[in-house]
Amino acid sequence: MTTVAAYAAPAAKAPLERTTIERRAVREFDVLIDIRFAGICHSDIHQVHEGWGEAIFPMVPGHEIAGIVSEVGPGVTKFQVGDRVGVGCMVDSCRECDNCKAGLEQYCTGGNVGTYNAVGKDGEPTYGGYAEKIVVDENFVVTIPEGLALDEAAPLLCAGITTYSPLKHWNAGPGKKVAILGMGGLGHMGVKIAHALGAEVTVLSQSLRKQDDGLKLGADHYYATSDEATFKELAGTFDLILSTVSAPLNLDAYLSLLKTDGAFVNVGAPEEPVALNLFSVIGGRKTLAGSGIGGIQETQEMLDFCAEHGFGAEIELIRADEINEAYERVLASDVRYRFVIDTATI
Ligand code: NAP
Ligand code: ZN
Ligand code: ZN
Repeated sequence: MTTVAAYAAPAAKAPLERTTIERRAVREFDVLIDIRFAGICHSDIHQVHEGWGEAIFPMVPGHEIAGIVSEVGPGVTKFQVGDRVGVGCMVDSCRECDNCKAGLEQYCTGGNVGTYNAVGKDGEPTYGGYAEKIVVDENFVVTIPEGLALDEAAPLLCAGITTYSPLKHWNAGPGKKVAILGMGGLGHMGVKIAHALGAEVTVLSQSLRKQDDGLKLGADHYYATSDEATFKELAGTFDLILSTVSAPLNLDAYLSLLKTDGAFVNVGAPEEPVALNLFSVIGGRKTLAGSGIGGIQETQEMLDFCAEHGFGAEIELIRADEINEAYERVLASDVRYRFVIDTATI
């Protein structure tokens, strides 16, 4: 066991504070990672607030982890000391179900193990990336390509893969009109990735405050959803709408923006249920779907894709003692576009 410094919420809704946690000794297939950077995902805030149900405290959030391998177990074949690596939202899964065998560990029917706020197969609680080090089985570690800076790569481990996976699955590409709903951590990655895939990209944001940035990141059009004229003008426009909104929203209004056979794919995870008038999907044979992160192999594919296209996330690098303030800014939709913790400041 190694004692490492970390930032944790001691109880639900409590501010995060510096503490220490124990990391297990490296086992046969484990990799010890010196964490350099950890992104702040809105999911961290939902869980610290216990917005998704009962959670485990103290909680060390963080599932956008970038660092350097500092030790490997004797059975490890994928990694060596010094490698640049990432860890996302999962650190284990059953590895036997059809989904795991198909590289869809995020939908493991035996239950995957979350990077934090979960219990590992050894019965111990898991602690996430707001820490100096982490120990992870090599099968849940990915390589960060040389072309990506580690700090800008960290958010790809959740925000990147969560947008890449559905954009690929629903065939965002040339000739497709894709709307990204919400221009936050996930949303800004959705814009970059959908643009790189060749789609015509529209941002639907609450206001036009971030319009210049959206257009720079690759959006072709930018609309404010606070303006009712937007819904009239864009009715029946999109092949695909990817919603990254963290709060309940008016699904019926957004479904009206789809073409016939269009799909509204939700990745946002609000704490409250949303209402739906089923006529909104009957007319126009529309699809309402959801998507969760992505598998491990697909996460590697996404990192390679981002490196090839020469982009990571747009980040604001912060010190660990600024985490609570950063949470407030995320809640106010005032993130541009991902806070990343420099873990050397823990
Ligand atoms: P974020 O950075 O806070 O971005 C969310 C964006 O949603 C905001 O920037 C804002 O965009 C928009 N928004 C927020 N409140 C709104 C409201 N009341 N009405 C309309 N729009 C609103 O959060 P994130 O880290 O990208 O995460 C987004 C959501 O995805 C969270 O719920 C998170 O838990 C979830 N998530 C899901 C998965 C998955 O696997 N499915 C993975 C990661 C995260 P504008 O300012 O442009 O309006
Ligand atoms: Zn996340
Ligand atoms: Zn499984």
